[in-house]
Parts: sequence; C-alpha cells; structure tokens
Amino acid sequence: MDFNKPKKELFTRASRSGPEERRFDQPQFLFCLLLIAAMVFVLYSGVFTRAENFFLDSFFRARKTIQVHPDILLIDIDDESLDAIGKWPWPLDYHARMLRFLSGAGARVIIYDAMMKASGVMTDASAGTGTLEDLRPYYLPVALEAKPEKKIYVHDLPIVLEPEGPGEVWVHSPAAVEKNAAGLGHRELSPDGDGVLRRIRPVISADGESFPFLAIPAVSGHGLKQIPLDEQKRLIVNWPGRWQQAYDRVSFQELVRIFQAPSGSSADQPAPERFRGKICLVGVTASGAGGNTVVGPLEPSLPEPAVQAAVLNSFLTGRFIRPVSQFVRLLCLVAVGVLAALLFAFQRNVIALLTGLGLGAVWVVVCFVLFSAKGLWLGAFHPLLLISVLFVFSALYSHMVSGQERKRLFNLATRDGLTGLYVIRHFREILNQAVRQAHRQREPLSVLLLDIDNFKPINDTYGHPCGDMVLKKAAEAVQSCVRSNRSVQDIDFVARYGGEEFIVLLRRTRLSDAADRAAERIRKKIEETAFQWNNVAIPVTVSIGVAALRFHESVPDPMVHRADVALYQAKRNGKNRVCAEK
Ligand code: GH3
Ligand code: MG
Ligand code: MG
Repeated sequence: MDFNKPKKELFTRASRSGPEERRFDQPQFLFCLLLIAAMVFVLYSGVFTRAENFFLDSFFRARKTIQVHPDILLIDIDDESLDAIGKWPWPLDYHARMLRFLSGAGARVIIYDAMMKASGVMTDASAGTGTLEDLRPYYLPVALEAKPEKKIYVHDLPIVLEPEGPGEVWVHSPAAVEKNAAGLGHRELSPDGDGVLRRIRPVISADGESFPFLAIPAVSGHGLKQIPLDEQKRLIVNWPGRWQQAYDRVSFQELVRIFQAPSGSSADQPAPERFRGKICLVGVTASGAGGNTVVGPLEPSLPEPAVQAAVLNSFLTGRFIRPVSQFVRLLCLVAVGVLAALLFAFQRNVIALLTGLGLGAVWVVVCFVLFSAKGLWLGAFHPLLLISVLFVFSALYSHMVSGQERKRLFNLATRDGLTGLYVIRHFREILNQAVRQAHRQREPLSVLLLDIDNFKPINDTYGHPCGDMVLKKAAEAVQSCVRSNRSVQDIDFVARYGGEEFIVLLRRTRLSDAADRAAERIRKKIEETAFQWNNVAIPVTVSIGVAALRFHESVPDPMVHRADVALYQAKRNGKNRVCAEK
C-alpha cells in the first residue's frame, strides 16, 4: 500500500465545487428572501416618496405630449390683458360682461378660476343679478379663509353686472350671483414636500360643506367614485404637456376688445365661433402681479388655471393616472425581488452586476410603458432599490463565502490529510524561500529529519489504523515542541516528509541549538507520550538527523541530504537518538 498517495476521502472532498463555479447558493437565496420581506416593510412605511416622485416626474417628461380634449378653451388673464386693462383686481364689470359674452357666443360651460377681493358694501340690487338666470352654466371658486377663531368658507364671487359708478367701491359679490351659479369648487393646491405640485384633492370638506375641485363639477356625467385615487385619496394630475402648447387659448383682453367693439363692426363676427360648444376656463395666467403659480413636474412655473385645465382634460378624455393598489405594488416588489435573488444566487461578479442592471432596466421600461400607454403608475423606485440591495448583499456574501472556500482549498492543497502537517510540496516552497533569505541575511537555519523507529512492526502487529493513530499523535507531539505563535520570521515549519518521516525547519537556529535543544526536546516528548491502542500501551520513539545551512549554500538540498545521512547514522547508532551532521 502506498501511503504517500492522497486517500480516497481527499478526492471526494476536493471534487466539491469551487468558488468560481456557478451553482445555486441556497443560504444566499434565503437571506435575500429576508431582505425582500424587509423591503415590503419599507414600502408600507411610505419612505422614499421623493425617489418615487422623481420617477413620476421623469416619466411625465419622457412621455409624449398627449392630445387634449378639443372642447377646452383657456381664457387667459395674461400679462397683455393686465397691460391693456390695468392692474389686478379689475372692476368686476369686466367679468360680468365676459360671462354674458361667452354665454352669448355659445360656450357650453364657463369655469371662472379667478378670485376677486374687494372691500366695502354692494347691494344685490346694484349688482343687477336678474339676467344671470339666462346664462350658460357657470362655476365659481370658493376660498377657504382661515379666521383666527374659526375656519370657514367664504364665497368670493367675481361677478357683478353693472359698471362701476363714480365713487362706488366694488365689493363682495351678491348672494344672488352665487345662487345662479351652476356650482362651486375649491382651488386648493398643496404641493409635495419638495414644492412640486403632483396631486390634487378631488373634494375638500369643512364645516359640514364639501366642495369638489373647481374643474370637476363642470364636467357632467363623471361621478367622483370612478376617479382613481392614491392612498391619501388624492388624484395624480395627468399633465398633457407644457401648458402653453397644450391648450387652445384666448387672451382676455382680445375678448374685451371684441365685446367692446361697436355692434355690427367686423371685430365680433368671426370670434363667437371659437367659443361655441367650448368649456371656457377663465383664469389668471399672468406671470406678473395677480397670478399665482405652482411648480409642476414639467415646468418650474405653472399658472393655477393650467392645473384646472389638466384635471378637466382627464375628466373629458377619461385619461387619468391610475396608481395601482398597494397590494399590486407589493406583488411586483416581491416578484422582482425573488427574480433578482434567484439570478444573484446563480451568478457572480460582473455577470451578476450586468444581470442586476438589466433587470432594473427592464423593470423601469415596463413601468414606463404601462405609464405612458395605460396611465398606470406602478411606483418604480422600490423594486429598483431592492435589486440594488440584493446585489450588494449577494456580492458581499459571495465574497465572504469564496474567501472561506479559498482558505479551505488552500488547506486541502497544502496540508496532509492524516496528520494535518504541511505536505512536502508546500514545505519545499517555504524551505526554498527561508534558505534564500537566510543566505542573504547571513542568518543560521537548520532542519530536523525525523523517522519513527520500528514503525513497520506497529502496523504489522496492530494494523494500519493503529499505525495511523501513532502517526497522528506523533505529528501533534512534534508540532507542540516547535515555535508556532511567533512572527512569521520565527515560525518553525513541520511537514510530513514521507510515510512515517517528518521534517522540521528551524529558522534563526544554529546546528548546536537545533540538535541539543529542539531535536532533543522532540525526541523526549515522543518517548514520553503515551500511545495506546485497545488499552495496550505502544512504545514509540523517533530518530532525528540534524543539519544546518552552510554560509555559502543558497539552496536547501545539500543540507537536507546531510540531515538524511545524520538520520541514518542515528538509526545505526541504535535509534531513539539525535544525530547532528558531521
Ligand atoms: P526503522 O526504525 O528502520 O525506521 O524501521 P521502520 O519499521 O520504521 O521501517 P520503515 O521506515 O521502512 O517503515 C515505514 C513503514 O511505514 C512502511 C509503511 O508501511 C508504513 N507507513 C507509511 N505511511 C503510512 C501511513 O500513512 N499509515 C500507516 N499506518 N503506515 C504507514
Ligand atoms: Mg521510514
Ligand atoms: Mg521508521
């Protein structure tokens, strides 16, 4: 039997897959599932809304401009109107006339998205509200005014029917005007934390009264129930594009010019056609004084009527942005997470990185396509974050595992399976290096060559398992006698040289010290160690040959040879002894 060959068991262990091999990593996958569960919790906790909003904004920007409903007509109280007519607020008469004009021109509905505050007193009679009953349906805004003692709604109605008389002060609109309005609506716009307006409240209630968003009641046939709302019962505004390009618009002052023109003149001939059947949204779009603006995802300054117009358009075209339910988001998150975890459990390094990037890109594209084609808002961010977290975790995990695997393989390659000592191949490398260094630095260096005395009879008498036990225990005894807990420079290396032979490298050790102290210590230790097999004590001794590097030598072979000769001498001299080279 040749004992120098690796045992069968070693072959079985060595055939286990290595770190670079692709295989399903079950523990890693299970840890990934835990991370997915943690991310579900993160999703429910509602953090990262800014990141979600970033994707929502980007999708709006990347999406093609959508066609708005042709019935929407914006009547802009723009900068030109302010230049032409004067500073805001205007005499209410202009608005009253406007209402009459639009009504007469056949507008389907008029939405007045403008608040006019005036002080003083005006009576219903002076407003001359009687003719309002004949007008087309018009909708007016309400303002929520915070009074210190009580929060109440005050209806600011911008309509009066008589021109301003000398010395008269225009004031709050009369109740009769409000009575004739087809409906009232709120125009509260509350931007998100970053100042960008993305969502509106379809209904606001206060003091027992509830008001829909101004643009909504004007569009008949659309109940509030069908509107797709988010978790906070808000409607995501579906921006059709940049407002100035999106809508058909007329400047207020142009209209004033038309209806102030003498009757029969050419100025009012073509104009009314433009208003027939339209939903006219009158509001302040001036960038100067008088107009309120908000920040939108598509543009940094958006007049408030443009928000009304966007909501109006959604109702008219049925194109809403529909946020999917929290449950669907959760399913998507888990599906993407499990897919990523599976991929990362099979892949490593660059391939895993590319796979992760690919999966993230596919997810974003799917979200965007659904957004732009169906108006579905899946919430793109959390699954992306999950893919990144899983990738980083998987990379760290496989780095750790492959480090352990490398260590295991290194031990497998350099350690003897039976004794745990270094194999001679690895020892030779260390010895060569140590000899070169000792030669360079002129330091002493010695080797001990050990051979167990009368080992064959042990095998023959008690069997090979007993011989193996003796080898193992002798190896432990040798290892316990040498320096192992020092700096690398001073460590002594022990290797299995052959069947029952060991070799020890002693650095910075002279021949006399090696022979008289180290070798003798080992010899004694083995002699004193109790070797027992089936309750029978087996006496074990070793013979040791010692040699040291000579100052001109830069390779170890002559020294090892001299140690071998010395060992032979020790055997010849009667065994269980140390013999140094001559
Ligand atoms: P000597 O005192 O002259 O060294 O006598 P010896 O009996 O020790 O003689 P030798 O060195 O020739 O014997 C070595 C024996 O060691 C031969 C081989 O069967 C046995 N042997 C080698 N490797 C192993 C091993 O891994 N396990 C066991 N049980 N025996 C081994
Ligand atoms: Mg031998
Ligand atoms: Mg022997």
